Amino acid sequence: THFGYQTVDKEKKVSLVGGVFDSVAAKYDVMNDVMSFGIHRLWKRQTIDSSAARKGQRILDLAGGTGDLAARFSRIVGPEGQVVLADINASMLEVGRTKLQDMGIVGNVDYVQANAEELPFPDDHFDVITIAFGLRNVTDKDKALRSMLRVLKPGGRLLVLEFSKPEQELLNQAYDFYSFNILPQMGGLIANDKESYQYLAESIRMHPDQETLKNLMQAAGFENVDYQNMTGGIVALHRGFKF
Ligand code: SAM
Repeated sequence: THFGYQTVDKEKKVSLVGGVFDSVAAKYDVMNDVMSFGIHRLWKRQTIDSSAARKGQRILDLAGGTGDLAARFSRIVGPEGQVVLADINASMLEVGRTKLQDMGIVGNVDYVQANAEELPFPDDHFDVITIAFGLRNVTDKDKALRSMLRVLKPGGRLLVLEFSKPEQELLNQAYDFYSFNILPQMGGLIANDKESYQYLAESIRMHPDQETLKNLMQAAGFENVDYQNMTGGIVALHRGFKF
């Protein structure tokens, strides 16, 4: 890629997250379908719809992993546009690259290993940035959000798709039970990796809720920040603009 590579921070969380995603990369897509009963596809479709992405645009799919969003954006922006699939983890990027190439998606997608906290792109560069199920893993969220704001064009938008807090207490309890008891067992059975899915459950519980994330985005400088809950607030899609 023409953006070059960035050396990966050796901080503890970074290496822990690295380990988790090294170990889940190969089974990542299957596990997503199983764990979410396929619903992650709807959450992602909603994200694409809210992006208002158009032909010819430049789009960053940050923490893009195995490239579900990048694949769809590639088709929308067409040959005059550009999609950058950026991820801190080389194994996830490699699975994404192979998958997209197998789908025949070549030409307008670049693959960049990068930390969301220090994006190696010019100022005012992208029309749209998405980060799906990625912000939760980032150590310094404020730093990452400011970095995203910097590389976004004025008028551009950021979409953050992330686990959030279920609106109903009953759903909250059921979901907690699912995350801490069922999910790690499934991770053990399907991916032979109970620990990574234990980490997933913990990272979901620690992640800021809807209003807290909205405030974080505003504090980092995003304007007109709003969000919509999906699946009862299990997931929320936050949107913010750069003016
Ligand atoms: N966006 C994809 C999706 O929705 O299927 C992948 C989500 S996956 C749960 C989270 C991704 O975030 C992993 O690929 C991981 O390597 C990446 N990641 C974690 N910390 C990151 C950071 N600081 N900068 C960039 N990517 C990061």
